[in-house]
Amino acid sequence: MSILKVEDLKKYFIVPQGVVRAVDGIDFSLEEGETLALVGESGSGKTTTAHVVMGFYTATSGSVKYRDIEIGYTPIEKRPLELRKEIQIVFQDPATSLNPKKNVKDIIDTAIKIHRKGLSSVERLKFMLSLLEHIGLSEDLLFKKPHELGGGEKQLVALARALAPGPRLLILDEPTSALDISAQARVLNALKKIQEERKISYLLITHDLGVVRNLATYVAIMYLGKIYEYAHVDEFFNRPLHPYTQMLLSSIPTLTEEEEKLLPQRILSRGEIPSPMNPPSGCRFHPRCPFAMDICKKKEPPTMIIKSEHGSHTVKCWLYVNAHERNLNKA
Ligand code: SF4
Repeated sequence: MSILKVEDLKKYFIVPQGVVRAVDGIDFSLEEGETLALVGESGSGKTTTAHVVMGFYTATSGSVKYRDIEIGYTPIEKRPLELRKEIQIVFQDPATSLNPKKNVKDIIDTAIKIHRKGLSSVERLKFMLSLLEHIGLSEDLLFKKPHELGGGEKQLVALARALAPGPRLLILDEPTSALDISAQARVLNALKKIQEERKISYLLITHDLGVVRNLATYVAIMYLGKIYEYAHVDEFFNRPLHPYTQMLLSSIPTLTEEEEKLLPQRILSRGEIPSPMNPPSGCRFHPRCPFAMDICKKKEPPTMIIKSEHGSHTVKCWLYVNAHERNLNKA
């Protein structure tokens, strides 16, 4: 059984100018102990998806199941404590997600008190110290406030707070994008170690392909509220199929000719992502796609299943529909 299963999820927002289709019919599942990376530019719908899973927003339609329980329509404040304990989040910017008036001990202790009722103060402290040691933070930081910590230390404190309840699903919302390179490496190493030891599932929201390479098991490429490619991480880097995926990979800087040769056909980024309030007809990527055909402007491409040695690899693009069927669809 998947730990998380999302089917035909839609999340629309009504605004004075019209309707923003932030997430517009997506499907994916996440297995125990694996990481699914939702990747895309800002405006692709990846953060909105994560926030529906967390219960910060409720779904407009479709289904979000955590271990077979429908959670898509239950806001976080109405979720039972047991469910809230099992799904936790680490936000992008630890500087704003940690209470500046509290020290590290109080920040983590609050989470332990809520979710591990019945522990004495000594037991809570013992638990906290083992947690800090586990993620590579010194106990000397216990009485420091967030402004006295480095960026990586702050994010590790946020991670410790998210781990304190004992989650089975952790949402990582751009967990390293506010950090410098060495702090990024420290946080990524801690995340990898925790997943190996505790078999926690990660739903990773990112636009950083280096983080994807480090953490992901599967990758879903989102563009204007839809998933256009879904693949195992090895397939994603070695055999990207969708022109948008190829465009994202083309933007990775290379240092050597060998690295350059490993990249897919170079597709230069063209234009900006359009508004989700007024998405282009047919394939939403068509105004930016160098391979766009007539049919791409008129009809939404079907999702094609591509043979792969790593399980499911799907792509939503007319290039992978044979010419005969394309012509039938044109008629
Ligand atoms: Fe490009 Fe057409 Fe494929 Fe869309 S469906 S990515 S426009 S070729």
